[in-house]
Amino acid sequence: MRIGLFGGTFDPVHFGHLRPALELAEHFSLDTLYLLPNHRPQHRDQPQASTAERIAMLEISVKEVPRLEVDVREAMRDEATYTFDTLTELREDQPAATLIFFMGVDAFAKFDQWHRWQDILELANIVVIDRPDSTLSEFANELISRQAEQAGRSIQPGSVGVIERCKVTQLSISATDIRRRVNEGYNIRFLLPDPVREYIYDHKLYQ
Ligand code: ATP
Repeated sequence: MRIGLFGGTFDPVHFGHLRPALELAEHFSLDTLYLLPNHRPQHRDQPQASTAERIAMLEISVKEVPRLEVDVREAMRDEATYTFDTLTELREDQPAATLIFFMGVDAFAKFDQWHRWQDILELANIVVIDRPDSTLSEFANELISRQAEQAGRSIQPGSVGVIERCKVTQLSISATDIRRRVNEGYNIRFLLPDPVREYIYDHKLYQ
């Protein structure tokens, strides 16, 4: 089993998440790539989408897309939760699986601020995907090149701690920009799936 996880706020999910997710699932021959919406305290959600709404938009997006699924374990927790805990749980559920955690360069640039980041590398592999207008931090560059020095290391069945970069189709789309456009009354068509656009209007999100 090869399982991928792609964490984020997904407020809302857009093609800048979905197209790379599909390409990664294919490129790494994943059995499943889970989109993993993060936990957010309800009282801080306004005027952004609630947890239930973020999940609903994700579910609509991956409906009938082979290999893409939504994992709600972090989003549904009552308290803050960490990637380390999620990966520990997954490792317990699927001891034989190869786990790959995907993130954009902007997210990976701050990886050293993550809770127990060294321990994350004992549980999973990391694939960093390029994102337009984002660059790696010094720490992130160093970590990747240190990893590259360990010649011959690539993600294999059962491996952990491998860090790779992967090129995906570059789409300069961000959730912040989509929220701003909705708020200012601009059309958001072709930035995200049509049913998600309809959901945003029906639920009067981001206005
Ligand atoms: P916001 O604008 O609200 O910060 P976002 O568009 O960056 O949101 P997130 O939910 O924060 O989306 O991102 C989740 C993950 O997806 C992160 O690892 C981020 O780097 C990656 N990502 C988001 N948009 C893109 C994109 N256009 N191309 C590549 N990766 C992306």
